[in-house]
Amino acid sequence: MKKIIVAIDGHSSCGKSTMAKDLAREVGYIYVDTGAMYRAVTLFALRNNLFDAEGRVDAQRLENQMHEAVVSFRLDPATNLPVTFLNGENVEQTIRTLEVSSHVSPVAALPFVREALTRQQQVLGHNRGIVMDGRDIGTVVFPDAELKIFVTASAEVRARRRFDELQAKGMPADYDDILRNVQERDYIDSHRAVAPLRQAPGALVLDNSEMTIPQQREWLMSRFCETVEKLSR
Ligand code: C5P
Repeated sequence: MKKIIVAIDGHSSCGKSTMAKDLAREVGYIYVDTGAMYRAVTLFALRNNLFDAEGRVDAQRLENQMHEAVVSFRLDPATNLPVTFLNGENVEQTIRTLEVSSHVSPVAALPFVREALTRQQQVLGHNRGIVMDGRDIGTVVFPDAELKIFVTASAEVRARRRFDELQAKGMPADYDDILRNVQERDYIDSHRAVAPLRQAPGALVLDNSEMTIPQQREWLMSRFCETVEKLSR
């Protein structure tokens, strides 16, 4: 059966990665969380003191040091899911903290960061058979993806989900701070000059504010099967 690329874009914390991971596992595709890559570069910038007190990133210094930030994925044999590494260190948990979340959007707006990570993402999807989630997968990384999904939900619903997720992991969480962060990231991600968050032409829209995870899983699986079937006709 022909392998395809599934591009899942949308707003922050709207459950893209849960849907993407479930689909990849179900159909035996590779899953790539591109947000994790932007988060890992942000962690690198934080550790190298590349932000000022106002949260502005020193773009020049980051560009000079960017070659030292090696982001990679390794499969966790227990879950069969990719784990994010920065220079050989497992940073899967550290990149999910609010500190990283609140610094990532300005880093993701830098053209040289986007160029480097986009190139890496295109290599990962070269053989197709991949489910990739992010903000610009259907518009920039794989405009030729056979299945493009644009996911959204209200900011309040998304903040609540992120809050519950952090609490469940025993990580510190404050609902108001998270809501503010979700709204700020929406704004920066949609208004940046390079690869802004947009619904790709031909993308199917999913507003999952009122949907359960199993309902979303089923919806995505049906779209996947329809697409593969159409292509094999
Ligand atoms: O998906 P996640 O919320 O983990 O992504 C973190 C941040 O990385 C986003 O808010 C966005 O600024 C950036 N990002 C991006 N392009 C992608 C994936 C993520 O700009 N393809």
